[in-house]
Amino acid sequence: SATPSADPATGAAVKAADRAHVFHSWSAQELIDPLAVAGAEGAYFWDYDGNRYLDFTSGLVFTNIGYQHPTVVAAIQEQAGRLATFAPAFAVDVRSEAARLIAERTPGDLDKIFFTNGGAEAVENAVRMARLHTGRPKILSAYRSYHGGTSTAINLTGDPRRWASDSGTAGVVHFHAPFLYRSPFYATTEAEECARALAHLEATIGFEGPATIAAIILETIPGTAGIMTPPPGYLAGVREICDRHGIVFVLDEVMTGFGRTGKWFAAEHFDVVPDLLTFAKGVNSGYVPLGGVAISPEIADTFATRPYPGGLTYSGHPLACAAAVSTMRVMAEEKIVEHAAHLGATVLGPGLRELAGRHPSVGEVRGTGAFWALDLVRDPETREPLVPYNASGGANAAMTAFATACKKSGLWPFVNMNRTHVVPACNITEAEAKEGLARLDAALEVADGYVVE
Ligand code: PLP
Repeated sequence: SATPSADPATGAAVKAADRAHVFHSWSAQELIDPLAVAGAEGAYFWDYDGNRYLDFTSGLVFTNIGYQHPTVVAAIQEQAGRLATFAPAFAVDVRSEAARLIAERTPGDLDKIFFTNGGAEAVENAVRMARLHTGRPKILSAYRSYHGGTSTAINLTGDPRRWASDSGTAGVVHFHAPFLYRSPFYATTEAEECARALAHLEATIGFEGPATIAAIILETIPGTAGIMTPPPGYLAGVREICDRHGIVFVLDEVMTGFGRTGKWFAAEHFDVVPDLLTFAKGVNSGYVPLGGVAISPEIADTFATRPYPGGLTYSGHPLACAAAVSTMRVMAEEKIVEHAAHLGATVLGPGLRELAGRHPSVGEVRGTGAFWALDLVRDPETREPLVPYNASGGANAAMTAFATACKKSGLWPFVNMNRTHVVPACNITEAEAKEGLARLDAALEVADGYVVE
């Protein structure tokens, strides 16, 4: 694979222009120091100083087939030469084909696809469809969740660090979803956590008034908030509650879709079919922005003769759809979904558990497929997180030291609060995964230094 050649002067110029003119997401502009990226291939990227990094983040958990897959790059180039863009009201071959392939892969009878440019817009539109379909105003969503950075999506997001950027949470009600390691219900077994979480949801619905609730939205396996696989029976229980109250069930699979968990969609692990399913990221590995909502026949019918009041200039953009068609074909031909499942079961899962056995800073290992989190703790007994909630500056010293150690060893880590997520490309080789685990092993020694005696 490609070896980086050092070109520090160009790197410095790229960085200077970035500092002068790019306004970065979620950041204090003067406090960040973004790496200047010179190139990327497969599971790796490199800078202008000759440093090569194994990417354990796959961007923001989206390059499911790795960087620069030649087949997908060629498909985008071919589409650009043929028909680079076209407005959404027309039937375009590559758009129809992308919709057909996505509908074929989504669970159950979700047969109509509304295209957006990303995940947040998918969530915005799913919620709008649910409100119009039911004629009800409220949406229930979980604490410890992430649903996107736009107005409604950010308010649905169950993380108060994000709400400061918007005006309020009108029509949004939060509840606790199951998370046994840090149980909101003081449960000690998965069965207890599941039963209590469902009772809590039912009680929340009772107090809010079922007839006021349009939808319940959940990430099938919450990602950004910590990769917390729900206990057996939970999602089936939510499905039953939704059916009983006429509430639309939305599963947000923006992060978990398209092979990430070792299935095409995480819902397959739990044998549930939502009424609406949101996707983005892995649909085309993020090569061109694309997201969307997969829609049940009942909800699609609501808009059979009544216009759907929503749309986007670039909905189903031909370049994005060409990338999606090609990505789904590559995933099938190279058996990438099966590979992610195998990698989780034989390399990442066992390897991370082995690290947890040797490093006192690892409180819990959670995940499946190419979707894992290490919950790092200061005290394994009390499960006190390695850094306080929402830590920044000096309070974040332990996680900063851990991340720095990873980067120095050539591993680019995903770090969020007291967690590191192991979310590489789904087609990373076993040897690459093992190389990453060895580097993680060394960096965890640094985290261990912050554990109380
Ligand atoms: N929903 C989930 C579950 C996500 O993980 C994300 C992004 O991380 C989003 C929605 C928002 O997607 P986007 O950033 O493409 O708008």
